[in-house]
Amino acid sequence: MQYQSTRDFGKSVSAAQAIAQGICEDGGLFVPQSIPKLGWQDLEKMRKCTYMERAEKILSMFLTDFSAEEIRSAVQAAYAEEKFPGGPTQLSMLQEGACTMYLLELWHGPTCAFKDMALQLLPHLLTKSLQKIHSDQTAVILVATSGDTGKAALEGFKDVLGTKILVFYPQDGVSPMQKRQMLTQEGGNVAVCAIEGNFDDAQTGVKKIFTDTSICSTLQAHGMLFSSANSINLGRLLPQIVYYVSAYCDLMETGEIDREGEQVNIVVPTGNFGNILAAYYAKQMGLPVKKLICASNANNVLTDFLHTGVYDRNRAFYTTISPSMDILISSNLERLLSNLTSSDVQVREWMRQLSKQGRYQVDADTLKKLQALFWGGCSSDVQTKEEIRELYQTENYLCDPHTAVAVHVYKQYVSETGDSETPAILASTASPYKFADSVLQAITGSIGEKDDFAKIAELSAITGTQIPAPIAALEKKTVRFSDSCRPAEMAQKTLELTGADA
Ligand SMILES: *Cc1c(COP(=O)(O)O)cnc(C)c1O
Repeated sequence: MQYQSTRDFGKSVSAAQAIAQGICEDGGLFVPQSIPKLGWQDLEKMRKCTYMERAEKILSMFLTDFSAEEIRSAVQAAYAEEKFPGGPTQLSMLQEGACTMYLLELWHGPTCAFKDMALQLLPHLLTKSLQKIHSDQTAVILVATSGDTGKAALEGFKDVLGTKILVFYPQDGVSPMQKRQMLTQEGGNVAVCAIEGNFDDAQTGVKKIFTDTSICSTLQAHGMLFSSANSINLGRLLPQIVYYVSAYCDLMETGEIDREGEQVNIVVPTGNFGNILAAYYAKQMGLPVKKLICASNANNVLTDFLHTGVYDRNRAFYTTISPSMDILISSNLERLLSNLTSSDVQVREWMRQLSKQGRYQVDADTLKKLQALFWGGCSSDVQTKEEIRELYQTENYLCDPHTAVAVHVYKQYVSETGDSETPAILASTASPYKFADSVLQAITGSIGEKDDFAKIAELSAITGTQIPAPIAALEKKTVRFSDSCRPAEMAQKTLELTGADA
C-alpha cells in the first residue's frame, strides 16, 4: 500500500514515510492510493475480537510496511488498561421517541477527549516509522490545537525518546480546563505557546513552517526534522477508522444488528474533518453506512458547503461552547475531495483558490456525490445547551457540548428525512468535565462566580457522576508554561523552543 499527495499523484511513498513526514512538500496531504476492502465475513470474524485485535486487523491493511508484531506491540502499548480503564471505547444506548442512538464514547483515555484514541498510538507508529526510513534525527512534533489535540499529543509524546513536541493554541479559544491541562503538562521534551489569534491562524502558521525550506534546513542542521500530530498526519487518521468498525461489530455482537449488510448512520461533531473522514474511509472499506452526518456549531462552513457546493471561509468566526470545532478551514476535506474527484489537478486548484480567495466551488458532479454520502447540519450554542439539558433531564445522560451538537443535528436529520429506523452511531468526543462551565450552566440555568474546580465539584455533586481522575488531578499540578506570540512570530518561536536558533 502506497500513499500519494492529494496535490500530486506522481509521487508515492510508504506509510512509514508518510507518517514520519506528516504533510507533503507540496502542501498536500497523504492519501492511500486505494482503500482496502472489508467484507461481511471479515466483520463476522471480527465481532468476537477484542478492540485491540480489531485495531491490529484494520491497521495491518493500511500499514503494509509494518510487521504484524510491530503493529501488535504498538496497539497493546496504546490501548493498555492503565491508559483506558474499562476499555478504549464504550457504547451507550439512548432511545428518544422513534430514534435509537448509540453514543460511542471515545473519551475514556488519559486526556478525556477522543483525540487520545489516535494520539496514544501515533508516537509508537511515528518512532517505528523513523526507524524504517533510517532517520536518526529527532522528530519535532509541531501542533496547532483548538484545545484537545494539544493536550492529547503532549500526553502521547511526553518523554518519548527521539521526539520533541511543541504546541500552539489560540490564547482565548480554549476552555479553562483545556488550557490548564496543557499548561501543567509534565515531561522533558514538551513546550506550549499561546497564539494571539484563533485556531485557523495557528494551523496556517504551522502548515507554513512545515513547508518553509529555510526553517526545515536550519532544523536539519541541528539534527531534527518536523513531523505533525495534527489530523493531517495519516497516523492520526488510521486509528480513528478502527472505532467505527469496532462499534459496528459490537452492535452485531449484541444482536442489535442481525442482518447481513444492515446499515447504520454515523453522526460526527466535526471541526477539522478528521474524525468524519475516518468514518468515510470505514464506509469505503465496506462498513454498511447509510449517511455520514456532519454536525457543526455556529462555524457552519461545512453545513453550507454540503448544501451548496461552495466552500467559503470569508465569514465571521465565532468562539463557541464547543471550541474544538471552532474552525473555518477543515483540512481533511481535501482528502475527501481527492477521493471523490480522483484528480490531483482539480484539488490543487481548489486549494489554491481557498488560500488566495478563501473560497472555492465544486462542480455539480462532485456536489452530487457529496450529497449522496453526507448530510450536514449545525447547532447554535443555545440549541446545544438545550440539548445538554434535555438529555440530562429525560435520559439522565450527561454529555459535553461537542457531543450535544451531534445529538442536535441528528434530530434535525431525522425530522427532515424521516429516517428514524436506521440505527445511528454518534461519536461522543469529550468528557462533560472538560467543559464543566458550559455543562453546568446548561443544566442548572446559571452559575455564580466560582473557580474551575468548584464548578467541577458542583457538577459531580448535582449529577452524581464521577470526576475523571486526570481532571481531578489537575488541581494540584503547577503551571509550567507562559509563552505567547503573534502568528507572524511562530517560526522564530519554533526555532527558539527547539534550540535550533543557537
Ligand atoms: C477535535 C474535536 C472534534 C472535531 O474533530 P475533527 O476531527 O477535527 O473534525 C470534536 N469534538 C471534540 C471534543 C474534539 O476534541
